[in-house]
Amino acid sequence: MRSVSVFGATGSIGENTFDLLMRGGGPATYRTVALTGAKNIARLAEMARALRAEVAVTAVDALLPGLRTALAGSGTEAAAGAQAIAEAACRPADWVMSGIVGAAGLVPGMNALRQGATLALANKESLVTAGPLLLATAAAHGARILPVDSEHSAVFQALAGEDIRSVERVIITASGGPFRTWDIAQLAAATVKQAVAHPNWSMGQRISIDSASMFNKALELIETREYFGFAPAQIEVLVHPQSVVHALVGFIDGGVMAHMGAPDMRHAIGYALHWPDRTHIPVARLDLAKLGSLAFEEPDPERFPALRLAREVMETRGLAGCAFNAAKEVALDHFIAGGLRFLEMADVVEATLDHLSRGNSLGKAASTLEEVQMMDHLARKTAVEAVHTRQQSR
Ligand code: NAD
Ligand code: MG
Repeated sequence: MRSVSVFGATGSIGENTFDLLMRGGGPATYRTVALTGAKNIARLAEMARALRAEVAVTAVDALLPGLRTALAGSGTEAAAGAQAIAEAACRPADWVMSGIVGAAGLVPGMNALRQGATLALANKESLVTAGPLLLATAAAHGARILPVDSEHSAVFQALAGEDIRSVERVIITASGGPFRTWDIAQLAAATVKQAVAHPNWSMGQRISIDSASMFNKALELIETREYFGFAPAQIEVLVHPQSVVHALVGFIDGGVMAHMGAPDMRHAIGYALHWPDRTHIPVARLDLAKLGSLAFEEPDPERFPALRLAREVMETRGLAGCAFNAAKEVALDHFIAGGLRFLEMADVVEATLDHLSRGNSLGKAASTLEEVQMMDHLARKTAVEAVHTRQQSR
């Protein structure tokens, strides 16, 4: 029986993963090792009961008694805290979903790879923060990373059976988010509620806002560079409002393979769950005649500066991705809390990168997780200062 763990089980990716595991037979098909969540312990306990998980872990220490109560009599162990999540990833499992949001997903993902697990990677922040280290860890332990981000799953599928050296370019698409047609003045006044309202995809709050600012696409550019190893100049972003074409791979003979499908993450998650096989997945079927036409346009780097910053990070590499992601997380926290305006998020990230590159510490590649964590910490501190500078200059 195949063993599985789901990190970030109670989130959007986690719910979709749970849906596929249950449809696939639940505990009759899968032996569930660990499920993790944060605040929503009622849902975590419900999932743990349904899948008969060995252990359920909440990221929030104070919620341990509540989780214990919710799991009473189920046979599932309860645990809490970041350390417990890291330890849960040390329990061997064949397939592990990395569905935590943010840099908090890195350590559990690394631990799962050290057990030789196949890591289904939704947590793009791990690749952005510590791509080379993650890939080296997988290689050292005979583990595999399968992309779950829809664009990267699409590229991965378009590359099946191809020689990677015959790839000329890769195009990842972006819906453009809710602000695709907004001008700078409108963007400057954009609210959290407006930013969360994604036109095509139903996702967690943080990635939805990142889609509106294109920080999500910025992370995905870096993710493409790190996961597949293409040069920055080979990777392009194309705005495609319908979110039907997820990515395109152009080959040296002029042929282009496009991956298409309904915007439903269960396709990419299911592909990673059953790879290298395919199985029936109940996502909506594409009806191109009904759609009639598909639109494409160039992204606007003026209104979406995150894309320009990502280009710089792709060139610098080293610890620049770690600093970029950490600063972006801080800026996002402040935007959600009401302390930063929408366009100021990019200002904070840019100021953080500028400040840290003056110390010349960004270009150096990290060889240990500790170095990554030190840069993450430093970049968060620098970003908080940049937020204060912004607020004081108003
Ligand atoms: P979400 O906010 O819906 O869920 C996040 C999950 O992580 C929850 O289970 C939450 O409890 C847990 N979590 C949050 N903070 C944590 C912490 N500090 N420590 C431990 N656990 C914590 O997010 P999501 O939309 O499911 O996204 C998850 C990841 O997948 C992100 O990296 C995102 O970029 C990526 N992704 C998501 C989608 C999507 O459709 N939602 C698509 C592509 C990639
Ligand atoms: Mg994506």
